Amino acid sequence: MPNAKAFAASSPTSVLASTSIPRREPTERDVEIDILYCGVCHSDLHQVRNEWSAVPTTYPCVPGHEIVGRVTKIGSAVTKHQVGDIVGVGCLVDSDQKCPSCAANLEQFCPHAIFTYNSPDKHGTAPVTYGGYSTSIVVDEHFTLKVPANLSLAGVAPLLCAGITTYSPIRRWGDVKGKKVGVIGLGGLGHMGVKFAHAFGAHTVVLTTSASKKDDALRLGADEVILTRDANEMQKHAGSFDFILDTVSADHDINAYLNLLVTDGTLTLVGAPDKPMPVSAFGLLFGRKRLAGSLIGGLAETQEMLDFCGANQIVSDVEIIAIQQINEAYERLLKSDVKYRFSIDMASLKNG
Ligand code: NAP
Ligand code: ZN
Repeated sequence: MPNAKAFAASSPTSVLASTSIPRREPTERDVEIDILYCGVCHSDLHQVRNEWSAVPTTYPCVPGHEIVGRVTKIGSAVTKHQVGDIVGVGCLVDSDQKCPSCAANLEQFCPHAIFTYNSPDKHGTAPVTYGGYSTSIVVDEHFTLKVPANLSLAGVAPLLCAGITTYSPIRRWGDVKGKKVGVIGLGGLGHMGVKFAHAFGAHTVVLTTSASKKDDALRLGADEVILTRDANEMQKHAGSFDFILDTVSADHDINAYLNLLVTDGTLTLVGAPDKPMPVSAFGLLFGRKRLAGSLIGGLAETQEMLDFCGANQIVSDVEIIAIQQINEAYERLLKSDVKYRFSIDMASLKNG
């Protein structure tokens, strides 16, 4: 079995460190990919530190689900790609492809969905799947995406999770043109949410705890910025938002944001703090408000999002890092100090 270089955590409290992992020889439906860039999602940090009680972590844990790379080998039945193509891989690497969710192109809700890391490895190559903080990966072709040729690859990588996770719920809400759309948290997901809401013609408002991000928010496409720790500012916008996307990674008071919705307005959670959130019934009853959730997106919608990004020149704003900086990058994520996604240049792992 071929080996790949990788960065892994061996326990919830250990730093990520260099290691070697097995990768399978491509089966007939598989694509082998030489990874060029991998984005750093806050989910990587949650998983590495075993912060999600619903999805306990198996160690060693090799995170990374925002993968862009070049095809180096294909199985005999592969039709989607040729050797040399640039492809993407997001949060999913397999599903049963026969359940109602798969039939509806919602592979993320398949009861047998295999996520890119920390899911059982049905090929038996390793106890669990290992993600993109690695020099290579082997993936069933259905779970690979075509990457538009005109976009910078370091900025494309985060589209595979942060991009689809924000594109999908905004699209699902409906036509946001001329509507007032809020994005809570200007991090990796949030800055993509702002770009999409703006591109779809919404009156886009960033709700942030970081006064220092105000100018960036406007540059990224926001029409207004609200500093959420300023109660007066929040009150001025009460009852005015048609749709709010909540990307916050830590505990926060959701009721303060529900108060900002119009009658029949929707707040969709994509942020995934572990702790349950107290929700005031009255905050929902008055104004018939809706609180919803959304998880990444299926493969067809992810391709649609990438094509939209190609047509509209949209990529993530990235700070390119070497893999050796990953532990420092995690500490900065926890301080909301990322502008606006770390993207690992995998040459640093190949040559390191
Ligand atoms: P990130 O880059 O760290 O951004 C999170 C942002 O939330 C921060 O930049 C900060 O923005 C804000 N924030 C942080 N702590 C806060 C607090 N205590 N109160 C209020 N705001 C706070 O993280 P990310 O990669 O975008 O991921 C965000 C969350 O989405 C994570 O929980 C991740 O696991 C989850 N996620 C979910 C899906 C899905 O499919 N649903 C997919 C990917 C990620 P400001 O500085 O602007 O306040
Ligand atoms: Zn992610």
